[in-house]
Amino acid sequence: MSVTAGPQLELDSSFARELPRLSVPWTAAPVPAPTLLALGEELATELGLDAAALREPAGLALLVGAELPGGARPVAQAYAGHQFGFYQPRLGDGRALLLGELVDRRGQRRDLHLKGSGRTPFARGGDGKAAVGPMLREYLMGEAMHALGIPTSRALAVVATGEQVVRETLLPGAVLARVAASHLRVGTFQYAAAAGDPALLRELADHAIARHHPGAVDADTPYLEFYRRVVDAQASLVARWMLVGFVHGVMNTDNTTISGETIDYGPCAFMDAFDPATVFSSIDHGGRYSYGNQPGIAQWNLARLGEALLPLIDEDTNVAVEAATEVVRSFAERYEWYFAHGMAAKLGLEAPDEPLVRDLLSLLHAQHVDHTRFFRALSRGDARSLFAEPEAFDAWAQRWEALLPPDRAAAAAAMDRVNPVYIPRNHVVEEALTAATAGDMAPFHRLVEVVSDPFAERPGLERYAEPAPAGSRPHVTYCGT
Ligand code: AMP
Ligand code: MG
Repeated sequence: MSVTAGPQLELDSSFARELPRLSVPWTAAPVPAPTLLALGEELATELGLDAAALREPAGLALLVGAELPGGARPVAQAYAGHQFGFYQPRLGDGRALLLGELVDRRGQRRDLHLKGSGRTPFARGGDGKAAVGPMLREYLMGEAMHALGIPTSRALAVVATGEQVVRETLLPGAVLARVAASHLRVGTFQYAAAAGDPALLRELADHAIARHHPGAVDADTPYLEFYRRVVDAQASLVARWMLVGFVHGVMNTDNTTISGETIDYGPCAFMDAFDPATVFSSIDHGGRYSYGNQPGIAQWNLARLGEALLPLIDEDTNVAVEAATEVVRSFAERYEWYFAHGMAAKLGLEAPDEPLVRDLLSLLHAQHVDHTRFFRALSRGDARSLFAEPEAFDAWAQRWEALLPPDRAAAAAAMDRVNPVYIPRNHVVEEALTAATAGDMAPFHRLVEVVSDPFAERPGLERYAEPAPAGSRPHVTYCGT
């Protein structure tokens, strides 16, 4: 196959090889009429792949898993997980496949993974398929998050299959090819721990350490140090979500990575008006995964990881519990640190100021101010106009100005480097996905272009920076993927 610039594409399979008990060899379902809908050219290049060749029939055959390089060992990965708080001992890739691992141009090993590639032994009642809309949504969200500097899986391509999939209606089907640092999840550790074989758990932990947190081996207690590093990576990640108003929507332990990347974009969305209770997912009735609950849920998920790791942390369970508890408790402090420093940057300040941030957030909340617009308006000097009762803002702004560094222009420019103008606004996303489902890809490509350069304000793109028109119905996202 000629999809690489130089030597043949090589797919390694360290996961399948080192952890055979955590996956099932499997192949992708045939795709009757593959048509490329979107291709991440920059990502392809980063991976050493020839984007032009990926558009050719042989490239498409790779992107849907129909033709793989010799030696590839595609697998469906096993994992367990807590879904909305309830433990499911066997989830796994029901409609996904790990094709293998590529080493990118920086020498990083990355998973090449398909979603919507047919039923696997983990499919339970599912059809193994995916629809065009949700796969393009994952593509778009990953690109937006990447451009915002937030660790994330990224889509390499979305290929329409030519098949219809049955959801509430018949929808065009698609396969997503995505790339992630790995697909090791908290749920992978839960699955290995539940198998009751300490050797398996140790092999998984060693694999994860080598791949994501290699420095942990130098510590006195490597597995505890590994745990600490995962906790820290997740604290940093969730703080970054919070700083841009991102709501993941389905923070089950099987969607929580060991690498600290965002994965599994389902019913996710960005918040408009600041409100900690913001929920978009149609199935999240209790608001478990609301914007404001995300740090607490991340910590809860990490506690589940700690439980899974106990046998590796110390032979004496009491000692292990005590050590793991201390680490998971440290999440709060780590999260606060990342959030406070991120907020300081958003406000152009040299140091965090907790009361200032707290009072700002309650102002934004009380007056239903758009989270994204506020920070750009603040650096521009016209944030006042966003408040229905501006006097309360004036008092806050006085305190803020007193803390700004003397070079105001430099502070404003620094703020604009971390506060996006363009995020994937829900109404614009829906519009683009509806058009794409009906066969018009132009709005989608345009939107990807806009959110891929989120910090530089460009003339003509005003509507992408505006919240949904007043009086719009609240945005709802569906897990029905
Ligand atoms: P998710 O909500 O995407 O994180 O998926 C949760 C679980 O449901 C995973 O085990 C998926 O593989 C499985 N799943 C979701 N949709 C399907 C489908 N259409 N067919 C088979 N399995 C699915
Ligand atoms: Mg998932």
